[in-house]
Amino acid sequence: MTVDQKGVMVYSEERKLELQLLGAGRELADKLEVELYALLVGAGVAGTDDLIEHGADKVYVVDDAGLARFAVEPYRAAVLGAVRKASPEILLIGATKRGKELAPRVAAALDTGCMTECVRLDVDEERRLVAERLTYGGSCIATEASRRRPHMATVPTRAFPIPQPSEGTGDVVRLEVEVPEPRAVVIERREKTRGDLGLEEAPIIVSAGRGFREREDLRLLEELAEVLGAKIGCSRPIAADSGWLEEWIGLSGRKVKPRLYLACGISGTVQHAAGIRDAQIIVAINRDEAANIFELSDYGVVGDLYRVLPALTRALKEKAE
Ligand SMILES: Cc1cc2nc3c(=O)[nH]c(=O)nc-3n(C[C@H](O)[C@H](O)[C@H](O)COP(=O)(O)OP(=O)(O)OC[C@H]3O[C@@H](n4cnc5c(N)ncnc54)[C@H](O)[C@@H]3O)c2cc1C
Repeated sequence: MTVDQKGVMVYSEERKLELQLLGAGRELADKLEVELYALLVGAGVAGTDDLIEHGADKVYVVDDAGLARFAVEPYRAAVLGAVRKASPEILLIGATKRGKELAPRVAAALDTGCMTECVRLDVDEERRLVAERLTYGGSCIATEASRRRPHMATVPTRAFPIPQPSEGTGDVVRLEVEVPEPRAVVIERREKTRGDLGLEEAPIIVSAGRGFREREDLRLLEELAEVLGAKIGCSRPIAADSGWLEEWIGLSGRKVKPRLYLACGISGTVQHAAGIRDAQIIVAINRDEAANIFELSDYGVVGDLYRVLPALTRALKEKAE
């Protein structure tokens, strides 16, 4: 720790999340009576105005051709370059997939700690960062205080609202950072093709678990999804083990917030539950009346999904006609 460390810096490669971080950072900066910095990293970086309008007193920009695509080593160097220049006492990083790769590496290089996926942030009388984070798959809240500077935390999307924009003024500081070559080379990039994109924004999700015996049986869910205008999700084994879908929902997958979540043949483990905690209404279909998913559900159907799903789809179709 050095006495010169001052200011709160926020960074995410996702602009919406960076604006949310500015909201969280502003409160901390005001409490500490320091400036708030936003960091922009990339190649051909443009558009610092919205960051200033949303509260940044200074925007640090690292713009380099080597940062055109995300790779952890060059981005790590860029963030470290900015941190060394600005010397903030707090650094918040968006907990995206990339942010989660980046943050621990930055923390290790700065010989500090990093509290992850924090949903509330504050500072104590010793100017330490104090964070609340969900643990045990979201069933408990831990309150932690950081002991080393710069205090670091990652923050998931939508934990903080985007602050109201105002006509703020701020400086833009362009930094030259030596950007190393990435250690891994990307051989091929392919667009995602399946219908399981956009789960986080979907208002209705119908989701498959290991109660489905064959990949082809997912058509039962597809038919229901079509009637409901729903996206299709699944538990981890369906995607990670069987490879029937691309993305799963849960602790290690997507966290979703639909108005309606329909879990079909999903047992409701703590890891799956962590991803559906914010669903407004959960409906479960499971043939085991003791399945944990019923503990989490607002409505439950004890039955065989191979019979319940076609009947449900038929009934909804009839209602729609
Ligand atoms: C570190 C770690 C992270 C993990 N992260 C995640 C995560 O993010 N998301 C996730 O989902 N899992 C995750 N898991 C895996 C998790 O522990 C479970 O293995 C998984 O959630 C189980 O998936 P499931 O409910 O589909 O399968 P199962 O637990 O096997 O449940 C299948 C259910 O289907 C029911 N069923 C069977 N046949 C029928 C039928 N014909 N009709 C109706 N019901 C039927 C059964 O009664 C049963 O309840 C993680 C595990 C680890 C160790």
